[in-house]
Amino acid sequence: MRSVVEREQLSKRAAEVEGYSWKVSDRADVPWSQLRALAREATRRSYAPYSNVLVGAAALTTEGTFVVGSNVENASYGLTLCAECSLVSDLVRQGGGRLRALAVVAGDGEPLAPCGRCRQVLYEHAGAALEIDQGEGHAVLTLGALLPHAFGPDDLPTRSTL
Ligand SMILES: [Zn+2]
Repeated sequence: MRSVVEREQLSKRAAEVEGYSWKVSDRADVPWSQLRALAREATRRSYAPYSNVLVGAAALTTEGTFVVGSNVENASYGLTLCAECSLVSDLVRQGGGRLRALAVVAGDGEPLAPCGRCRQVLYEHAGAALEIDQGEGHAVLTLGALLPHAFGPDDLPTRSTL
């Protein structure tokens, strides 16, 4: 497991690479066990009658608040909302902000990686420095590692041709 200093260096490097300014010096230890518990609790509110794969997500914001989400499936399958989408909706509903640390678990309580779409959705509200839980005793991953060379909000003004 990485130390706090190593995680901060990793996050700082990811922030520099991706061009996001992140107040690395303000980062305290993330309450991962609390995030995992909130994510597990969120699986109990999943609506997953088609796949029966319950998913819960919980995140800590840079303001120190928590947001949660559960997956919401749809008979059309393609319109299914992942727990991370639901979590981002909760973030916006609470007034917005930036995500700092994330735990996603399935109904068995074990970590689950965000799907490709959710990596992009999370990037919009967190940037590359978002720390993502891999389970107790495992190194934390950053979103920058899961979504390298991401397209994000900073790309729009610099690539506009009008
Ligand atoms: Zn997803």
